[in-house]
Amino acid sequence: MNTTILLNAVQFAAFKHQKQRRKDADASPYINHPIAVAHLLADVGGISDIDTLVAAVLHDTIEDTETTAPELEEHFGRTVREVVEEVTDDKGKDKELRKQLQIEHSAGLSSRAKAIKLADKIANVRDVTESPPAKWNLGRRAEYLNWTEKVIAGCRGTNDRLEQYYDQVLAAGRAKLASAGF
Ligand code: NDP
Ligand code: ZN
Repeated sequence: MNTTILLNAVQFAAFKHQKQRRKDADASPYINHPIAVAHLLADVGGISDIDTLVAAVLHDTIEDTETTAPELEEHFGRTVREVVEEVTDDKGKDKELRKQLQIEHSAGLSSRAKAIKLADKIANVRDVTESPPAKWNLGRRAEYLNWTEKVIAGCRGTNDRLEQYYDQVLAAGRAKLASAGF
């Protein structure tokens, strides 16, 4: 049953991310982020495809925990494994290159992976606006917003509602930085 599969994914991700925190001043529990990404896909994007929602909940497990791709396949099937792998950066590469590769690779992603990228960047733009990493100055926050726009350029044509919401959240983020004097 889809509800059970989705709850299994939430429980799996909560366990894998249990010792991690986001970078905001309150050090929020990490799991809030993947839940927010899946929620955006369902609530804003109108997406009910179970593999997309499950992959969204799991989207940072390979990149940020010890979770392996075969482990995801064993528990959640091959499609979920492949989609999570698509949205996983190669940690063997340096951070600057990884950011550039996200820009170059986004147009070639599957539709499921593009929708997750959109929701992930919406969540992070919102975080950079409302609860930014504690050490980031206004310039670094503006630079991050600009980078997400380049990644999202390759994800357009997938889900109008998510794309329009991304545009709104980005504009609100820029307005907030401008009002703070940047
Ligand atoms: P990142 O830019 O990778 O950090 C942002 C990522 O952290 C997000 O994409 C998100 O990823 C995660 N995250 C966790 N908490 C938050 C939050 N509260 N708000 C938003 N995002 C959050 O930073 P790094 O420290 O890894 O630095 C990498 C790059 O930053 C360098 O390559 C360089 O380009 C740039 N840099 C810029 C500087 C400047 O002053 N302009 C200085 C130093 C670096 P996820 O969705 O995966 O959780
Ligand atoms: Zn993420």
